[in-house]
Amino acid sequence: MSDLDPEEFRRLGYAVVDWVAAYRAGLGGQPVRPPVEPGSVRDRMPALPESPQPLPALLGELDRTVVPAVTHWQHPGFFGYFPANASLHSVLGDLLSGGLGVQGMLWSTSPAATEVEQSLLDGLAGALGLDPAFTWAGGGGGTIADSASSAALVALLAALHRGSGGAWRETGVDGTERVYVTAETHSSLAKAVRVAGLGARALRIVPPAPGTLAMSADALADMLAADVAAGLRPVLVCPTVGTTGTGAVDPVRAVAVAAAPHGVWVHVDAAWAGVAGLCPEHRGLLDGVEFADSFCTDAHKWLMTAFDASLLWVRDAAALPAALSITPEYLRDSATDSGAVVDYRDWQVPLGRRFRALKLWAVVHGFGLEGLRAHLRAHVALAAELESRVVAEPGFVLAAPRSLSLVCLRLAAGDGPTRALLERVNASGTALLTHTVVDGRYVIRVAIGSVATQREHVDALWDALRTGRPDGP
Ligand SMILES: *Cc1c(COP(=O)(O)O)cnc(C)c1O
Repeated sequence: MSDLDPEEFRRLGYAVVDWVAAYRAGLGGQPVRPPVEPGSVRDRMPALPESPQPLPALLGELDRTVVPAVTHWQHPGFFGYFPANASLHSVLGDLLSGGLGVQGMLWSTSPAATEVEQSLLDGLAGALGLDPAFTWAGGGGGTIADSASSAALVALLAALHRGSGGAWRETGVDGTERVYVTAETHSSLAKAVRVAGLGARALRIVPPAPGTLAMSADALADMLAADVAAGLRPVLVCPTVGTTGTGAVDPVRAVAVAAAPHGVWVHVDAAWAGVAGLCPEHRGLLDGVEFADSFCTDAHKWLMTAFDASLLWVRDAAALPAALSITPEYLRDSATDSGAVVDYRDWQVPLGRRFRALKLWAVVHGFGLEGLRAHLRAHVALAAELESRVVAEPGFVLAAPRSLSLVCLRLAAGDGPTRALLERVNASGTALLTHTVVDGRYVIRVAIGSVATQREHVDALWDALRTGRPDGP
């Protein structure tokens, strides 16, 4: 039994592309999140076939079994969580990557997979206005991780390595390590602390500056000094640019200043908001990143690139390999030994890695930086309009300052009515919203950023919000 021959692949490939095109074209008419009973998809799955089946049968199964039970993340009415925009440019780039089918774990296992990634990350560092120290020529470098969560984990491992003078590789952790976050920091930091074996006691929650949701750098400085005096070892602090709940921005510069005397690794988590640095008017968000040790932003949230593509830059290109490199004989090769190449396996937990750079390249190539800026700006403008409508509407409350394209709102009538409103909008199928809690109150988040979202969809959402509240407009 052989694989598809290239001619069959061509024919079936067109059919698959047609299917995807029809899916995207028809998305607006689907409920964003269809109701699904637990177990119903498994119940409908056919038994594994003994004999080969034709592709159209599989596409038919997708229509019957899969599409009715997916949440349509590319739907123009998707306003939940943060967007995970998978532009069709990036889908084509992903196809090219799959077609090449290479492993980029070492430079020598596919030199282009490594060098295209290096070059793109250098280019994007420039486009984001990052300090040249984060480029390869500047002694640092960038990589594409699968997720911001993985990026945080490897940053923590590099921090443990540096903070222990390398002893950590031999002795492991000793229970004195401490990691500094806020109550708004993404849970991936707590997970990284757990995975690294530090235990939850290592996690120190720095309070916010009064009246804000952003880390107090003064409180951080006090906690660091107190912990050092108590014989503990501060390892890493993670300021967030654009928290997941409300888009709050920690003061990266002041955090870095507080961290510096103790040699603490500063990892900036800008998973969602960081890409806005492409627009000069938003570059102030990245103020102070030039003093950080690592910086992460997801191309797979707002930057049009299908999951997974999380961009991670470090100031010291040797930091991650120092913490992570282990070289068995079968991975030894002369390019590595020459020291002239980067082996990205040493920048991540797994050995193997996909040629992720191709889908990112397809995005930057297809939209141009100009197109990407226009995409970001359109969503920020729509969010600003929605914000003014919320402010002007009696009974509605802006629950946090708007952050870029994220608007947080609630009803003055209280938590119950706000939750009922969210549930009503979601049940209508025209939009998907998610929530957070701010100052103990239930808050609706509107994250504008789906590739297909236009003014009409935000208008429709506002109508649904206004007319859907329990006491009516
Ligand atoms: C979404 C998000 C993450 C996690 O992103 P993944 O790439 O899915 O791991 C981390 N931090 C922040 C601030 C986020 O918004």
